Amino acid sequence: MSVIKTSKLCKHYRRGSETVHALQDATLAIETGEFVAIVGPSGSGKTTLMNLLGCLDTPTSGSYRLRGQEVTGLKESGLVRLRQENIGFVFQQFFLLPTLTVEENTELPLLFRDKGKRLTHELLETVGLSHRRKHLPKELSGGEMQRVAIARALINNPAILLADEPTGNLDSKNSLKVIELFRELNSKGLTTIIVTHNREIATMANRTIAISDGQIAQ
Ligand code: ADP
Ligand code: MG
Repeated sequence: MSVIKTSKLCKHYRRGSETVHALQDATLAIETGEFVAIVGPSGSGKTTLMNLLGCLDTPTSGSYRLRGQEVTGLKESGLVRLRQENIGFVFQQFFLLPTLTVEENTELPLLFRDKGKRLTHELLETVGLSHRRKHLPKELSGGEMQRVAIARALINNPAILLADEPTGNLDSKNSLKVIELFRELNSKGLTTIIVTHNREIATMANRTIAISDGQIAQ
């Protein structure tokens, strides 16, 4: 069964008197355990698509089934639940809270949900940061901060990891480390979708979906 299945998904924004067709008839399926890279120029609709797949936003029209369940038409509370139970997010900006330690940042999502949680120390070991657990974000490198954000994204044991330009703020060495971590997590069964501008990184995924002007290239 496809873990993600969309049909003619559209997202239109109003900008003054004009309508922006950020996403047009996006039809795609992603199978359990895939590692997919979404590529496309700036403004092509990649973030719009990721936000829809992650139930952070709702489409203007079209259908989206997440693990068999129709998402469109759900109210905010339903979206929140789906998100918490299924999705881990990683963003270009790491969004770590500066006054919390590595460990506390990792555990932050447990404030909102404490079912099926994973052990913080295990996760920090997986991302190679258990020795840094008492440090503050400002004491870390960019690559380390992103690895904390990845640990945080995994604490609720999601089925799908969505990462929107996760290496956009990293140098090539740290980018590679982060992508290798994604590959390792994916090899353990985590369905992984990343947006990237970087061709080299895109080739490390199992499949590439290209998007331009809001449309998925076939
Ligand atoms: P990408 O992530 O590929 O750079 P986006 O999905 O962020 O592209 O944006 C796609 C298009 O939708 C762009 O033209 C962008 O300006 C527009 N857009 C994105 N979000 C909004 C918004 N909230 N309001 C109006 N236009 C938006
Ligand atoms: Mg974007």
